[in-house]
Amino acid sequence: MKFANDKWANFPLRYIGRFAPSPTGPLHMGSLLTALASFLDARAHQGLWLLRIDDLDTPRNIQQADNAILKTLEAFGLHWDGQVAYQSQHHEAYQQALQVLNDKNLLYRCICSRKSLAEEDLPNTLPGGIYPNVCRQKNHLSASDYALRIKTEPLNIHFIDHLQGMITENLATQHGDFILQRKDRIIAYQLAVVIDDHLQQVNHIVRGADLLDSTIKQHYLHQCLSLPSPQYMHVPLLTGAQGTKLSKRDFAPAVTQHNSHQTLFKLLELLQQNPPADLKASPVATQLHWAIEHWHPEVLRTVRRIAITEYHAI
Ligand code: GLU
Repeated sequence: MKFANDKWANFPLRYIGRFAPSPTGPLHMGSLLTALASFLDARAHQGLWLLRIDDLDTPRNIQQADNAILKTLEAFGLHWDGQVAYQSQHHEAYQQALQVLNDKNLLYRCICSRKSLAEEDLPNTLPGGIYPNVCRQKNHLSASDYALRIKTEPLNIHFIDHLQGMITENLATQHGDFILQRKDRIIAYQLAVVIDDHLQQVNHIVRGADLLDSTIKQHYLHQCLSLPSPQYMHVPLLTGAQGTKLSKRDFAPAVTQHNSHQTLFKLLELLQQNPPADLKASPVATQLHWAIEHWHPEVLRTVRRIAITEYHAI
């Protein structure tokens, strides 16, 4: 894989989207909603919809969760194109990317821990958990227990999100030097996702708005690695009735495959696609056909959160 001087070289004209769940448990309603939005957007653009299992964070992986996720997607008619990709197949490419960044003198070893940072007397500690660059000027060459961080500059990075509009953030003051490889040697999500999407030639990313904050970091990595940036659409998060995010960590109930057509209809309503009532009893394939034809994600532009109030009724 080439990282230098290949900007736009392989940029395919065809829409290529993807869904990239982590195998940390079965799909819950929030992740199914994102999968559906990403599927509909790809299909409405006659695009490919790829599936990747983000299995790098091995301590959090749950055995067989990948198979459970695949079965759920199939039960909902969300059929992907080609073979399922796994991040664990991409180790060599991650190492090559780290090498490119290291050659550009953009990486450094960091031996800090949360505890050591809390104990240090740091007058310039930045707010919001931003790393205060303690190790940037130190050469921890003999250290064995270190993370790799990327140097950031006080640059404003912009991108236009299809739903959230223009996003501008300052890399150094709002994000700081961030980790690309953890102390346990696991490649961090920010780097992995950039390489994975490049390897799969993904050019449209539809995902939950909880990842909006990561996109600036990923943009910076695209710049550093001379890779094209995909187009982004961050979909509002599905929340519980109290406004809290539904996530696997909150033990949000897994989606059941039972009555999948009723759940799908509800998800289309939650995405504000206004499905006609007579579609409610139709099989998932018919509902999806209608939804692709009528896909209007722009209605979500003014929506901050999608609250699910009748969860148990689904
Ligand atoms: N694997 C990530 C997750 O499950 C999503 C990655 C992405 O869409 O960029 O939250």
